[in-house]
Amino acid sequence: MSDLLIKGGVLVDGEGRRQADVLISNSKFEKVGEKLDPSEGCRVIDAKGLYVLPGMIDAHTHYHLVSRGTVTADSFPEGSRCAAFGGVTTVVDFADHDKRVSLLDSAKIRLAEMSGGMADDYALHEGVYGMKDDIGLELEHLKDFGVSAIKLFTTYKNVGYMIDNPEELDRLFSYCKDLKILVCVHCEADDLIQKINGSWTGTYLPKDHALLRPAEVEAKGIQIVGELALKHHMPLYIVHLSSAKGLAVVRDLRSRGAKLVVETTPHYLFLDRSKLEGPEGPLYVMTPPLRDKEDNLALQGALCNGEIQNVATDHCSFTYSQKLESNDCRTIYPGIPGSEELFVLLHTFAVRTGRLAVEKAVQMVTENPAKSFGIYPKKGAIKPGSDADAVLFDPNENWTITNSNIHSASGYSAYNGFQVTGKVRMTIRRGEILVENGQYLGHPGEGIFLKAATSQAYR
Ligand SMILES: [Zn+2]
Repeated sequence: MSDLLIKGGVLVDGEGRRQADVLISNSKFEKVGEKLDPSEGCRVIDAKGLYVLPGMIDAHTHYHLVSRGTVTADSFPEGSRCAAFGGVTTVVDFADHDKRVSLLDSAKIRLAEMSGGMADDYALHEGVYGMKDDIGLELEHLKDFGVSAIKLFTTYKNVGYMIDNPEELDRLFSYCKDLKILVCVHCEADDLIQKINGSWTGTYLPKDHALLRPAEVEAKGIQIVGELALKHHMPLYIVHLSSAKGLAVVRDLRSRGAKLVVETTPHYLFLDRSKLEGPEGPLYVMTPPLRDKEDNLALQGALCNGEIQNVATDHCSFTYSQKLESNDCRTIYPGIPGSEELFVLLHTFAVRTGRLAVEKAVQMVTENPAKSFGIYPKKGAIKPGSDADAVLFDPNENWTITNSNIHSASGYSAYNGFQVTGKVRMTIRRGEILVENGQYLGHPGEGIFLKAATSQAYR
């Protein structure tokens, strides 16, 4: 691997925008400064007119998710590839909780699957779907191994994902606080969903998905875990916030002292439930469901005023034809792809509209998730000693996202037809070029597992 000197670009990170050259040596950033000279044998990359960004982090992905008797279109190689085209060099993916084995072994099962396939680097969230007497010890082993965040559901009781005994949940929060493990929660209150479903007399078309799991359900879910976090004086991470009602609960909890880290996704920012109408409605079914335009606007406001810290994608891709196999929202494969579109959407609809400084948008997909998930400053920063993950981004190129120019193996984009501004020109992971001139140069198995330290949410 030869040294790389990225010359003449505008470095953009959480600290701002400045003219700076970046020297990469032995997979790390070596120097950042003005008018750097190339070392011997160094390749010089002209970044004039381009932004130089830290490699992005998609902190919420489900590559190779086994669901309903099939597996997602993007396994680890395909997920890494489309991520790299979008400037993402690190993902935080999820391990299911296999209740027959320990939490650590559950994580190791997932890592064994990932290690041969990932080209992006990766950290892990461990699902916790049930309690055991020695769960405290299991959590301790998990944290020591390098998994410092767990994922809980307040729904999916029917498939065994939910810890529904309040005392058990309370005990779990207490263990996590003691061990400084970040609790991440998918917030939808299961009892309210059951109640709505129980009295439902309507159809089960894609559009009905939004009515069967309305925003009240999310608000109640956030309330439940938010109260626990307040009680234990511990931070809490809300995954994929989707609604204005959920945001209102976040505000209330914060006003009472809760320390919440809030994540949203591009689809809750820029898509609404009118997408669920019509023959392609199933393409837009995910959980929580798409909401109203007012919810988009509320979340965009929260993004721009700092109430939302992280943007990730919940990338969970099924093919175009798989998605359209059913028109019944109870059986449509849930989830959409999105890693590739993550930053260009933020750039187009938040930055270029003048509402969000580009450095803030960059921070939400680099530094902030890296800090949340204990991988900063190894990841999420262009600083001497950090992993040399970088993106060259042309902020001025106009193009249109289509089903065919996006690289997900799903064969479609939920943003098909969106006119966007900004294009990834080059993606570099640990000093190796993953994307250049529209070509993918990564290889399955090159990605490494990142041992996570304690989340900075505990500071
Ligand atoms: Zn998810």
